[in-house]
Amino acid sequence: MNGIGIIKGLLITLKHFFDTYLSNFGRKQKNLSTDDKRGMVDSSGLFTIQYPEEVLVTPEEFRVIPFLVYEAGENNERKYRCTSCGICAKVCPTQCIFITRKKDPETGKPIPSPEEFYIDTDKCMNCGFCAEYCPFDAIKMDHDFELSTYERGDSHIYNKEKLGKPVEYYAKIRPVNYALEVAEKSEKTTAA
Ligand code: SF4
Ligand code: SF4
Repeated sequence: MNGIGIIKGLLITLKHFFDTYLSNFGRKQKNLSTDDKRGMVDSSGLFTIQYPEEVLVTPEEFRVIPFLVYEAGENNERKYRCTSCGICAKVCPTQCIFITRKKDPETGKPIPSPEEFYIDTDKCMNCGFCAEYCPFDAIKMDHDFELSTYERGDSHIYNKEKLGKPVEYYAKIRPVNYALEVAEKSEKTTAA
Protein backbone atom coordinates (compact mmCIF):
# COMPACT_ATOMS: atom_id res chain seq x y z
CA MET A 1 0.00 0.00 0.00
CA ASN A 2 1.31 3.43 -0.87
CA GLY A 3 2.37 5.53 2.10
CA ILE A 4 2.90 2.59 4.51
CA GLY A 5 6.59 3.53 4.85
CA ILE A 6 5.68 7.06 5.91
CA ILE A 7 3.32 5.74 8.56
CA LYS A 8 5.98 3.37 9.88
CA GLY A 9 8.50 6.22 10.04
CA LEU A 10 6.05 8.43 11.93
CA LEU A 11 5.34 5.61 14.40
CA ILE A 12 9.08 5.27 15.09
CA THR A 13 9.28 9.03 15.69
CA LEU A 14 6.28 8.81 18.00
CA LYS A 15 7.90 5.93 19.91
CA HIS A 16 11.08 7.97 20.41
CA PHE A 17 8.97 10.88 21.59
CA PHE A 18 7.18 8.83 24.26
CA ASP A 19 10.31 6.95 25.28
CA THR A 20 12.12 10.21 25.72
CA TYR A 21 9.52 11.91 27.85
CA LEU A 22 8.22 8.91 29.78
CA SER A 23 11.59 7.27 30.51
CA ASN A 24 13.81 10.27 31.00
CA PHE A 25 11.66 13.25 31.95
CA GLY A 26 13.05 15.06 34.95
CA ARG A 27 16.25 13.01 35.02
CA LYS A 28 18.55 15.66 33.64
CA GLN A 29 21.12 17.61 35.66
CA LYS A 30 21.76 15.00 38.30
CA ASN A 31 24.56 12.66 39.09
CA LEU A 32 24.15 9.52 37.07
CA SER A 33 24.18 6.32 39.05
CA THR A 34 24.93 2.80 37.89
CA ASP A 35 21.23 2.04 37.52
CA ASP A 36 20.73 4.97 35.15
CA LYS A 37 20.37 3.36 31.77
CA ARG A 38 20.87 6.44 29.62
CA GLY A 39 23.56 5.76 27.08
CA MET A 40 23.52 2.02 27.77
CA VAL A 41 22.65 -0.56 25.10
CA ASP A 42 19.22 -1.14 26.59
CA SER A 43 18.39 2.55 26.94
CA SER A 44 15.50 4.07 25.04
CA GLY A 45 14.53 7.58 24.12
CA LEU A 46 16.61 10.56 23.10
CA PHE A 47 18.39 12.66 25.67
CA THR A 48 21.16 15.13 26.24
CA ILE A 49 23.92 14.53 28.74
CA GLN A 50 25.11 17.79 30.29
CA TYR A 51 28.81 16.89 30.16
CA PRO A 52 30.99 17.62 32.09
CA GLU A 53 28.46 18.20 34.90
CA GLU A 54 26.92 14.85 34.03
CA VAL A 55 29.05 11.88 33.08
CA LEU A 56 27.62 8.63 31.81
CA VAL A 57 28.45 5.44 33.62
CA THR A 58 31.28 3.81 31.67
CA PRO A 59 30.49 0.30 30.42
CA GLU A 60 33.12 -2.28 31.38
CA GLU A 61 34.14 -2.97 27.78
CA PHE A 62 34.71 0.71 27.02
CA ARG A 63 38.29 1.17 25.86
CA VAL A 64 40.77 4.01 25.57
CA ILE A 65 44.58 4.01 25.62
CA PRO A 66 46.01 0.78 27.12
CA PHE A 67 47.74 0.58 30.49
CA LEU A 68 50.28 -1.85 31.91
CA VAL A 69 49.13 -3.85 34.92
CA TYR A 70 51.52 -4.17 37.84
CA GLU A 71 51.42 -5.79 41.26
CA ALA A 72 53.09 -4.16 44.26
CA GLY A 73 56.32 -5.88 45.27
CA GLU A 74 57.73 -6.34 48.79
CA ASN A 75 59.12 -2.82 48.96
CA ASN A 76 56.18 -1.40 47.09
CA GLU A 77 58.11 -1.47 43.83
CA ARG A 78 56.15 -2.10 40.65
CA LYS A 79 56.16 -5.68 39.44
CA TYR A 80 54.91 -5.37 35.88
CA ARG A 81 53.19 -8.43 34.48
CA CYS A 82 54.73 -7.68 31.08
CA THR A 83 57.43 -10.08 29.94
CA SER A 84 58.39 -7.90 26.96
CA CYS A 85 57.48 -10.73 24.60
CA GLY A 86 56.59 -8.13 21.96
CA ILE A 87 53.34 -9.75 20.79
CA CYS A 88 51.33 -6.57 21.43
CA ALA A 89 53.77 -4.51 19.37
CA LYS A 90 53.55 -7.02 16.56
CA VAL A 91 49.74 -7.09 16.37
CA CYS A 92 49.25 -3.35 16.87
CA PRO A 93 47.72 -2.10 13.58
CA THR A 94 49.21 1.38 13.92
CA GLN A 95 52.61 0.15 15.15
CA CYS A 96 52.58 2.57 18.05
CA ILE A 97 54.10 0.30 20.72
CA PHE A 98 57.85 0.33 21.34
CA ILE A 99 59.49 -2.09 23.77
CA THR A 100 63.04 -2.90 24.82
CA ARG A 101 63.81 -5.89 27.00
CA LYS A 102 65.88 -5.81 30.20
CA LYS A 103 69.27 -7.48 30.23
CA ASP A 104 71.13 -9.11 33.07
CA PRO A 105 73.95 -6.63 33.83
CA GLU A 106 76.41 -9.45 34.49
CA THR A 107 75.66 -12.00 31.81
CA GLY A 108 74.03 -9.71 29.26
CA LYS A 109 71.29 -12.27 28.82
CA PRO A 110 67.75 -11.00 28.28
CA ILE A 111 65.38 -10.89 31.25
CA PRO A 112 61.63 -11.28 30.61
CA SER A 113 60.74 -7.78 31.72
CA PRO A 114 60.50 -4.46 29.86
CA GLU A 115 63.36 -2.01 30.22
CA GLU A 116 61.34 0.53 28.30
CA PHE A 117 57.78 0.47 27.07
CA TYR A 118 56.30 3.31 25.06
CA ILE A 119 52.95 3.92 23.44
CA ASP A 120 52.46 6.82 21.05
CA THR A 121 48.95 7.79 22.11
CA ASP A 122 48.46 10.00 19.05
CA LYS A 123 48.68 6.92 16.88
CA CYS A 124 46.80 4.49 19.12
CA MET A 125 43.31 3.91 17.73
CA ASN A 126 42.01 2.19 20.86
CA CYS A 127 41.31 -1.04 19.03
CA GLY A 128 42.24 -3.22 22.01
CA PHE A 129 44.21 -5.77 19.97
CA CYS A 130 47.20 -5.47 22.30
CA ALA A 131 45.05 -6.36 25.33
CA GLU A 132 43.30 -9.10 23.38
CA TYR A 133 46.49 -10.84 22.30
CA CYS A 134 48.69 -10.39 25.39
CA PRO A 135 49.27 -13.91 26.77
CA PHE A 136 50.14 -12.59 30.24
CA ASP A 137 47.14 -10.30 30.95
CA ALA A 138 49.70 -7.56 31.25
CA ILE A 139 48.10 -4.85 29.15
CA LYS A 140 44.49 -3.72 29.46
CA MET A 141 42.34 -1.03 27.95
CA ASP A 142 41.65 1.96 30.16
CA HIS A 143 38.47 3.93 30.86
CA ASP A 144 40.10 7.32 31.33
CA PHE A 145 39.10 9.34 28.27
CA GLU A 146 39.77 12.87 29.56
CA LEU A 147 43.24 13.08 28.05
CA SER A 148 43.34 16.35 26.15
CA THR A 149 46.37 18.57 26.68
CA TYR A 150 47.63 21.90 25.35
CA GLU A 151 50.85 20.27 24.18
CA ARG A 152 51.25 18.15 21.04
CA GLY A 153 54.72 16.74 21.56
CA ASP A 154 56.43 14.27 23.82
CA SER A 155 53.74 14.24 26.50
CA HIS A 156 51.60 12.17 24.14
CA ILE A 157 54.18 9.39 24.15
CA TYR A 158 53.51 7.48 27.35
CA ASN A 159 56.41 5.66 28.98
CA LYS A 160 56.36 2.62 31.24
CA GLU A 161 55.85 4.72 34.38
CA LYS A 162 52.93 6.62 32.92
CA LEU A 163 51.38 3.49 31.43
CA GLY A 164 51.64 1.51 34.68
CA LYS A 165 48.54 1.10 36.82
CA PRO A 166 48.02 -1.19 39.84
CA VAL A 167 46.10 -4.44 39.53
CA GLU A 168 43.52 -3.01 41.98
CA TYR A 169 42.67 -0.34 39.42
CA TYR A 170 42.18 -3.01 36.77
CA ALA A 171 39.91 -4.98 39.14
CA LYS A 172 37.89 -1.83 39.81
CA ILE A 173 37.24 -0.77 36.22
CA ARG A 174 36.87 -4.28 34.76
CA PRO A 175 35.41 -6.38 37.60
CA VAL A 176 33.88 -9.08 35.39
CA ASN A 177 37.03 -9.58 33.34
CA TYR A 178 39.19 -9.56 36.45
CA ALA A 179 37.02 -12.17 38.19
CA LEU A 180 37.16 -14.40 35.08
CA GLU A 181 40.92 -14.06 34.96
CA VAL A 182 41.29 -14.99 38.65
CA ALA A 183 38.98 -18.00 38.22
CA GLU A 184 40.93 -19.17 35.17
CA LYS A 185 44.25 -18.88 36.99
CA SER A 186 43.00 -20.78 40.04
CA GLU A 187 41.62 -23.52 37.75
CA LYS A 188 45.04 -23.89 36.12
CA THR A 189 46.75 -24.01 39.54
CA THR A 190 44.36 -26.73 40.77
CA ALA A 191 44.86 -28.77 37.58
CA ALA A 192 48.66 -28.54 37.81
S1 SF4 B 1 52.19 -6.30 27.23
FE1 SF4 B 1 51.83 -8.50 26.96
S2 SF4 B 1 52.02 -8.87 24.76
FE2 SF4 B 1 52.95 -6.87 25.19
S3 SF4 B 1 55.09 -7.32 25.47
FE3 SF4 B 1 54.15 -7.30 27.49
S4 SF4 B 1 53.62 -9.43 27.88
FE4 SF4 B 1 54.03 -9.28 25.67
S1 SF4 C 1 44.81 -0.30 21.36
FE1 SF4 C 1 45.29 -0.95 19.24
S2 SF4 C 1 46.31 0.79 18.33
FE2 SF4 C 1 46.36 1.12 20.55
S3 SF4 C 1 48.29 0.25 21.23
FE3 SF4 C 1 46.77 -1.36 21.42
S4 SF4 C 1 46.88 -2.51 19.46
FE4 SF4 C 1 47.90 -0.53 19.15
